[in-house]
Amino acid sequence: MRYHNITKDDMLNGDGLRVVLWVAGCSHGCRECQNPITWDPNGGLPFTEKEENEIFSEKLKKIFGKHKILRPI
Ligand code: SF4
Repeated sequence: MRYHNITKDDMLNGDGLRVVLWVAGCSHGCRECQNPITWDPNGGLPFTEKEENEIFSEKLKKIFGKHKILRPI
């Protein structure tokens, strides 16, 4: 999988604060699309374990609070 961006503290794509992963390879082809750069499934960056950990870390911060996540158990 490849991705274009990870948005933290996103308030525009659902209720509350969210972490949003913007993946590459949209196949909808909307005529009014403002991000056609996202259509190429080979575009963007590779989604690796580093990005996965970044997302889960951000989600845990939102659930438990920034200062409670000091290190894994
Ligand atoms: S607007 Fe663009 S990115 Fe969004 S679904 Fe349509 S084609 Fe895909």
